Formats: sequence, C-alpha cells, structure tokens
Amino acid sequence: MGRTVSTMMRDNISTKPYLIENIKSILEFYQAIGFERLPIKLEVGKNSKPQSLNSKPPLSRLSKGGHGGMKEIALKALRKEIGDCERCKLSKGRTHIVFGEGNPDARLMFIGEAPGREEDLQARPFVGDAGMLLTRLIDKMGLKRSDVYIANIVKCRPHLNRDPEMDEIEQCRCFIERQIEIIQPEIIMTLGRISTQTLLGNMKLKISVTRGNFFDYKGIPLMPTFHPAYLIRNPKDKWLTWSDAQKVIEKLKRKD
Ligand code: URA
Repeated sequence: MGRTVSTMMRDNISTKPYLIENIKSILEFYQAIGFERLPIKLEVGKNSKPQSLNSKPPLSRLSKGGHGGMKEIALKALRKEIGDCERCKLSKGRTHIVFGEGNPDARLMFIGEAPGREEDLQARPFVGDAGMLLTRLIDKMGLKRSDVYIANIVKCRPHLNRDPEMDEIEQCRCFIERQIEIIQPEIIMTLGRISTQTLLGNMKLKISVTRGNFFDYKGIPLMPTFHPAYLIRNPKDKWLTWSDAQKVIEKLKRKD
C-alpha cells in the first residue's frame, strides 16, 4: 500500500531534524517581522533544548575592535566635507542630508539606495516603514541597529521616492565608497538593485539573480538581498532575505 502524506511527513520529521530547524527559523522570522504567536513549540531529538522564539544566534564580536574612535573622527570629517551639498539636483528637493548612522567600527554594513520621506525629515537612514522591517531583520540576526552601520548610495531624497538617476549616483557614490573605506566592515549587505549595481559596478545586474550569493567589493564580501520596501510589497519573499541574512551571520561567525 502507498505511504500517506502524513506518514511521509512523520518519517521526514523523525529522520531529518534539520528540516524542522529550517521550518522553525522561517517561522521565527515571520514572528520577528510582526506575525504574532506562531505555533512552533517543536523539539528536535531527545537531547535538544527547546529554543526561545527570540533566541538570537550569538556573535562573540560586535565590533571589528580597536579603531572605533579614529573611524568616528574620519566619518565626521567626511560629513563635514559633504557640507550643505549642492553637487546634484537632489539638493533642491531635500530637507536634510542623510549621511548614515551606526557603529563606526561595525562588522556589518547595510547599504540602501536613497532616503525616503521619513528619512529626509529625520536625517536618519531607514526610519520609515522599510526601516522598521530592516530593524526587525537586524534584531532577528541577533544584532542591534547600533551594532551595524546603515547608509545609502545617495544622501538626498529623490522626488516622490523615484529611483536615483545616474548623474545623481555618480556625484554621490564617492561618499559611500569613502564610508566603506573608513568603516572597513567584514561584510556588506546591499539592499535592493540600485546599491548592488552601484557597488558592483554593473548597472545590468538583477537583484533576483544576485541575491543570496556573495560577491567581492574591494576585498569585502558583499551579499545582495531584496530591498525592505520590495519585501513590504512582496511579503512572500521575506524568507529569501532571511536566508540571505543567515548566510551573512554564518560568515561573520566563521570570522569570530
Ligand atoms: N530606502 C532606502 O533605500 N534607504 C532609506 O534610508 C530608506 C528607504
């Protein structure tokens, strides 16, 4: 007689504990991004301890260590150099320049494309709806916003959140490049197409193809993933970003 689906599921679950771990981590991510009370009280094998839903993969080092003070000074000097920038037409419509924020000695840097409305008003990156999702992802990775560094390719808001244009990117890209040079993160996560294309120097790259794979940016591993604003519109793809983030955490752990 053929095996029923439930028999197959039971056999898989009893013989493949990693399946349960994978399912658990996906469910945990959904909880971290706002779903409430998912029924995931699963125990894997006799000896495994049930993990708290909010348990975080521990990283033993949150900073690169040693040069935070100098890096902070260098970042302040760079911000001063940008000044009240009028290098491109985005300056006309902005309220504030959004330089970037976080730990100057961060091991991990997140790079988006351009400030949106909230960011423009508050002069801080990723503080609107997309920012809330990014903050939850960072938290789920076992980190705080203050552990990582967050910045954008262009520092001023494009009108009605349109994509930044090539001339605007070209005027501004030296600043993100210098931020990376100062911070020297161990890993960069690019959020969306524009930051991935800009840093990898290829404006034809597709985020759906590049995401989930490590690339090289001047010797620094770079992991492209979906932009949080895309994930708000396409929540079914959140688990892909979570799997990209797990690869990043694993690499950081190997460098611990
Ligand atoms: N989208 C971005 O790319 N950056 C922000 O800071 C906010 C939204």
